[in-house]
Amino acid sequence: MTALSTKVLIGVIGAGAMGSGIAQVALNAGHRVVLHDAASAALERGVDSIRAAYSRLLAKGKISTAQHDDRLARLTSDVDIASLAEAGLVIEAIVENIDIKTAVLIKLEALLAADAIIATNTSSLSVTAIAARLQRPERVIGMHFFNPAPILPLVEVVSGKVTSQDVVATIFATAQAWKKIAVHCKSTPGFIVNRVARPFYGEALRLLAEGAADAATLDAVLRESGGFRMGAFELMDMIGHDVNYAVTQSVYDALFQDPRYKPSLLQKDLVDAGWLGKKTGRGFYQYAEPLVAPAVQITASAAVPSTVIVEGDLGPAEKLVALAEQAGLTVTRTDGVGILRIDGVAVALTDGRSATERANDLAPVQVLFDLALDYDTATLVAIAKADQASDHALAVAAGFFQKLGKKVVVLDDAPGLIVMRTVAMLCNEAAEMVQQAIATTEAVDLAMVNGVNYPRGPLAWGDAIGLTCIRNVIQNLAISYGEDRYRVAPLLRRMTAANRTFYAERAR
Ligand code: NAD
Repeated sequence: MTALSTKVLIGVIGAGAMGSGIAQVALNAGHRVVLHDAASAALERGVDSIRAAYSRLLAKGKISTAQHDDRLARLTSDVDIASLAEAGLVIEAIVENIDIKTAVLIKLEALLAADAIIATNTSSLSVTAIAARLQRPERVIGMHFFNPAPILPLVEVVSGKVTSQDVVATIFATAQAWKKIAVHCKSTPGFIVNRVARPFYGEALRLLAEGAADAATLDAVLRESGGFRMGAFELMDMIGHDVNYAVTQSVYDALFQDPRYKPSLLQKDLVDAGWLGKKTGRGFYQYAEPLVAPAVQITASAAVPSTVIVEGDLGPAEKLVALAEQAGLTVTRTDGVGILRIDGVAVALTDGRSATERANDLAPVQVLFDLALDYDTATLVAIAKADQASDHALAVAAGFFQKLGKKVVVLDDAPGLIVMRTVAMLCNEAAEMVQQAIATTEAVDLAMVNGVNYPRGPLAWGDAIGLTCIRNVIQNLAISYGEDRYRVAPLLRRMTAANRTFYAERAR
């Protein structure tokens, strides 16, 4: 199916942050655009913001004067919805309320040609439910842009229960022609990004509530070890706790209070206090005077260890062997269950159990370390010690990672630590989405990399770590917490039993 021709007039309803951004995307792609808003002041503001955006691009030399003038010449604006009558595609971006949205769309539908497509930019409402209130629900689709729409590359193309395949294919191709990365999913609470991303916030909030470490330290581990562009707390501060909490609450309610998505009291407290993050000067961090620099609790230098024995295969942490050798440590290898024995101290990668539990294992462990996206490039590693282990054991493990050139932070002995636990839960959530045929493996990974800048798609990441490891981590978290929140996606359990991976699967 081909994209809509640039001759097709595009209508945009709502001249707020999203509508004015979406109008720019369509103008940039060469369409004529009519921007409509019921409030004339809002419409004026929206048009002004488009003019200002193009002036900035012109001043920076990103567009020529001809391009600047041409784009603005293709833009009209009108408070009368009848101005949209000739549009071949109308994208609605008004207030997030199904009654208000459908009242406008019902008026719109009466004006449009029979083959015109109606798209909604809703972030949380059911596309199926919106479509059902119209005469021709098969031409209704979700086109979920991210804010700011002219800059962020992802568009989730969301089909409702009866959206026609032709409409899906046309909108998918059109989003691509508009230089966006399009991913398709079925209408589901949170679509792909806002649903799969929930554990990124949820697990960090839970670890903070349990006193695993402070926000700045947990953020540093997510960034410098996990490879995430931002830590969960700074990101929530940036998004705004009111918005982030509302999304969590809406996904939780829409999924019938599945404990997997349970909101955090810690975040509700911030909302109740009006500490909404950057925009109010205070959230987890402080943004107003007097500024307090976030202090990451980096561990003091410890002695360089003298003997390193690697017992068995370290799995996702196998790279540490080469790094230790490069750092000048003498490494010997023996058989075993995947443990580093450093000056006699047993150190292992977290498997979702606490170090304290593993200290009682047949192969006892004293110190655990967290997963890193890549141990080579990670600048920081998080470790935690068993209650039964000594401070000396902790210092030996710290000395090892420091010799490898890493900063070390000590977390309390929380099951799964932070990066491993987060990545496992992201992968599990993504697996559930694939199993339910809401989106494909590639679509989920593309969405998370381009929608929220994850360093790797959660399914590709799961393949790289090993799906058995992911399954074990979640299974062990379930034992630690005794909660349904940590239940392994049936697809993940099945794939590990058959030794399958997400991407080999696709190549078959
Ligand atoms: P906004 O408040 O900035 O803009 C909404 C605009 O709609 C306002 O200008 C308002 O005057 C106009 N409007 C309200 N009722 C109207 C009506 N009946 N007819 C015509 N115009 C009307 O909101 P926004 O942030 O641009 O969000 C718009 C939509 O996009 C919502 O559905 C939201 O969930 C979704 N969305 C928002 C974001 C985001 O980060 N802001 C991201 C993706 C999707």
